[in-house]
Amino acid sequence: MMNRILKFGGSSLADARCIKQVSSIIRSRLQLGDELSIVVSAFKGVTDALINLSVILQTGAAHERQTLALIQHHGSAIDELGLGNDSELYSCITNLTKQFNQTLSDFPHEPTEFVKWKDELLSYGERFSACIISAYLNHVGVEAEALDARQVVITDNNFGDAYVHYQRSYDQIRIYLNGRGKLQVITGFIGAVEDGATTTLGRSGSDYTASIFGAALNVDEIQIWTDVDGILTANPNLVDQAVPIGELTYEEAMELAHAGAKVIFPPTMIPALYKKIPIVIKNTFNPDHPGSRISSRREINGEVAVGLSCVSNVSLIRMQGAGMVGVRGINARLFSCLANSGISIMLVSQAFSEHSTCFALKPDETESAVQAIESEFAHEFKLKYIDKLVIESNQSLVAVVGEGMQGTPGIAAIIFDVLGQESINVEAIAQGSSRRNISFIVRDADVGKAMQALHNELFQRKSARNGKRDFEDSLAIQNLSNSRV
Ligand code: ASP
Repeated sequence: MMNRILKFGGSSLADARCIKQVSSIIRSRLQLGDELSIVVSAFKGVTDALINLSVILQTGAAHERQTLALIQHHGSAIDELGLGNDSELYSCITNLTKQFNQTLSDFPHEPTEFVKWKDELLSYGERFSACIISAYLNHVGVEAEALDARQVVITDNNFGDAYVHYQRSYDQIRIYLNGRGKLQVITGFIGAVEDGATTTLGRSGSDYTASIFGAALNVDEIQIWTDVDGILTANPNLVDQAVPIGELTYEEAMELAHAGAKVIFPPTMIPALYKKIPIVIKNTFNPDHPGSRISSRREINGEVAVGLSCVSNVSLIRMQGAGMVGVRGINARLFSCLANSGISIMLVSQAFSEHSTCFALKPDETESAVQAIESEFAHEFKLKYIDKLVIESNQSLVAVVGEGMQGTPGIAAIIFDVLGQESINVEAIAQGSSRRNISFIVRDADVGKAMQALHNELFQRKSARNGKRDFEDSLAIQNLSNSRV
């Protein structure tokens, strides 16, 4: 018997047909004797619609049509699920709708209160969803009840992206669940500050909720159910041959997620990693597929890389000057002034000569980055110790990720050789300190070609260009297959 958390995301909850599929997955797992708790997202599109509603309210425009559409959306799911006569569900939905309307009319006129109010508004997506899904499970013979996670998940007051107080939440979860016989259908994504104010954990935060409950209950496995067969080796929009990754480590999954792959909400890894609980990504619409399993160890079967990820449309700022060479504190001042302006840096590369540093950031932060640097280094710019900043836009950041790259000679050579063969210019390079990530920047126009060529070389070996390369590869493979991470 296994103890598992099953989390179903919005794509698994698009309509009544999907909800029936979700409930059949839950029932089949229960029939196998598993002990389960369920975490649910809002129905597909609902969080986006709520965000849209918050914007409409902010502009003061009429919102009645959108509000009604949201209520009706849930209402039609209830009808299609055959729950129209469920009196318990009726009172739950009536109650929630009343509260929802109250929240809408409580729109704050004080701008600082807006983020707090918005989290309250967004919480309704998951609250409606948990209420309807638990009612449907009861309808098909599974004794279930909805759990509003705000009762047990305690966070700080960073509304919109709250940090969970783990130990306090674990204690609350254990106390609450102790002795409860019914299957719990838990609202993902939401928590509450000590004083009761609602918080949200960041977009896609239901994954994180699943991990928090998994760690609190010391489950054997956390399953994240979505609409693809697992984490793919590359973005399928750029690489046709992308395939699901069978196994990867927490660190590999984190590297891929942080480098733009749509894997899993990154903080999800933290509670699972500390408790060494495997996370399995599964496809609701193809439940027999094994999916991708994330855990602390995996067998390295020859492959050096586990996946490629990329983020397009980034900007690159190059800062250089004779006055930077050997001067202490330049980087400290540079990154402090960026941090103080709330700018997040995606990649940094500094040449050994210390004559130049470059970094990548989101394009909409470029202007404030330039202003911050020009003001911090006004003196150095004036004396021409530092040259005029060079800004390059329309760049793509690419990361090659894999445990197998650690300590394996020749990987960087293979990567940059492939790019050279494709006549792709590399604008900047960085290797993560973990050595399981080699990142570089190319122009947006080249990213598709770069991803495809690297995927061929690293995952399909279609373009093994000559016998020497094949021989070298097979030597590396032999070395790797003899070792475990
Ligand atoms: N409903 C939230 C969102 O769409 C959280 C989640 O689905 O994980 O971001």
